[in-house]
Amino acid sequence: MERRYYNRELESMTRAELEAYQWYHLKRQVAHTYAVSGLCQRQFKQAKITPDDIKSMADFRNKVPFTTKRELIADQEACPPWGTRLGVPEKEVFYTFVTSGTSGKGQEVHAETRSDYDRHIDRGCTNYAWSGWEKGDKVMLPLPLSMTAAAPTHFLALQKLGCNVFNLGMYDTQTKLQWLRRFQIVGMFSNPAYLDTLTTEAEQMGIDPARDLAVRKILMALSAYPISFVEKMEAKWNAKIYDYYGGTQGADSATCEKGAVWQGKRGFYHLFEHMTLHEVIDPETVQPVGPGEVGEMVVTPLIREASPFLRFRMADRVRWFPYDACDCGRPFNAVEAGTVSRYDDMMKIKGVNIWPEMIDEIILTKDEASEYQGRLYISADSRETAEVAIEFKAGVPLDVKQNLLTRLSQELRDRTGVGFNVKEAAQPLPHAVFKIRRWTDDRVKGLEK
Ligand SMILES: [Zn+2]
Repeated sequence: MERRYYNRELESMTRAELEAYQWYHLKRQVAHTYAVSGLCQRQFKQAKITPDDIKSMADFRNKVPFTTKRELIADQEACPPWGTRLGVPEKEVFYTFVTSGTSGKGQEVHAETRSDYDRHIDRGCTNYAWSGWEKGDKVMLPLPLSMTAAAPTHFLALQKLGCNVFNLGMYDTQTKLQWLRRFQIVGMFSNPAYLDTLTTEAEQMGIDPARDLAVRKILMALSAYPISFVEKMEAKWNAKIYDYYGGTQGADSATCEKGAVWQGKRGFYHLFEHMTLHEVIDPETVQPVGPGEVGEMVVTPLIREASPFLRFRMADRVRWFPYDACDCGRPFNAVEAGTVSRYDDMMKIKGVNIWPEMIDEIILTKDEASEYQGRLYISADSRETAEVAIEFKAGVPLDVKQNLLTRLSQELRDRTGVGFNVKEAAQPLPHAVFKIRRWTDDRVKGLEK
C-alpha cells in the first residue's frame, strides 16, 4: 500500500530524527511560553523551576507542571477575555476560537497568529492527505460555521489541498443527499451517528449510496464506534472510511492508508508528533503508559505563538501504541482508532461538549421538578438522540407539567445548542444523597445494530 504524505520531509524522518526535531522546538516553546504567559510563570514558580532547569526531554516530562482546562478557564475569567497567556500584541491575533462546550466551563478561549493558523490548517491538510483527498475532489462538508474551529479548519484545509468543497452544513439531510447525487460528490466528512442518519435517510428516499452516489472516501471523527459499524457502512457506501482524533489544543492524529478498520481490526491514529508533543500518562501515577495500555492524552504544541501552554491534560482516555505497531512506516507513535473515551463525565452530544452539571442546573432548579434521568441513543430512524425524563414533585397539575416540559425543551436547546427530547418519567426515579449518575449512553450499542 503506497504511503501518502502531506509534508514528505517531516513525515519521512526516522524516529531518532523526529525526537531531535521535537526537542529543538520544545525547548524554544518552553522559553517562549514562560516569557509571555502569566499562567506559565505561576505554574513554574509553584514548581520552583525556571526554563533553565529543563535541559532534556526527561527534565520536561519530570519537572514541567501539567495544565488543565480548569486552569485555562480560571485564568481567562480572572483576566478577560484572553487570560494572562495571549503571548503576542492583540493586533497580531489573526484568529480567535473557543473549544466547544456549553458554558464558561467548557469554552477555553484561544488566539492564533497568522502563522499559528497556517500550522492549524496544515494539521487539517494532513488528515485529509493521509486519507487520500486530492486536487479536484468534490467534497461535502456538513459543518456550519461557528466560534469553534472545526468548520473553518476543514474548509480551508480542503481548499489548500485543491478540493472543491460543497459547504452543506446549513441544509437538511435530504438536501445534502440531493447535492451528493447531483454533483456526484466523491468524499465527505461525517461523525459516525450522522453517517448512520444519512444512510437511513438515503434508503428512505430510494437512494442506494453504493449504486447512486459517488462517495468513495469518508473521514469520520468525534466519537467512538464498533468495528462492525465501519464494515457495514463501507459496504453500504462502497467507500473507504478514515478517521481522525484531535482537539483544538493540538492533539491531532489520523488513520493511515489502512483507514479506521483494516482486515477486521481497528486501525491506528498516528499522532502528528512533528507538530505536537504527545504524552500518554497513567492519570494516577502520571507516568507514561506502555504498549497497548490506556492512559490520558497530554499535549504540548511544538510551535505556538499566541495562547501558548505546556502539557495540557485532555481528559481523553486513549489506548497507546509505539510507532512500529503499524507497518505503514510513519515514525509517529499511535493510539487505537475508534475507542477514545473520557476520564471525566463530559458528554459529546451531536459533536458538542456537554457536562451533566449544566443539565442538572437547568432542570433541578425548576420548582416542579424533583429528579431526572438522561439517555443518549441512536433512534429507530438512525438519529443521535438525547432524551431527558423528568420526575415531577407530587401534586403538580397536568397543565403545569406540560408547560414546564415545553419550557425545558426550549431552554435546553438555547443554552446547549443541542435539541433534547423532554418527557415525563414513566416511573419514579432513584434519588441518592451522594453524587448520582443520571446519564446512560447507548450510542455505540446503537451503531452495532
Ligand atoms: Zn499506519
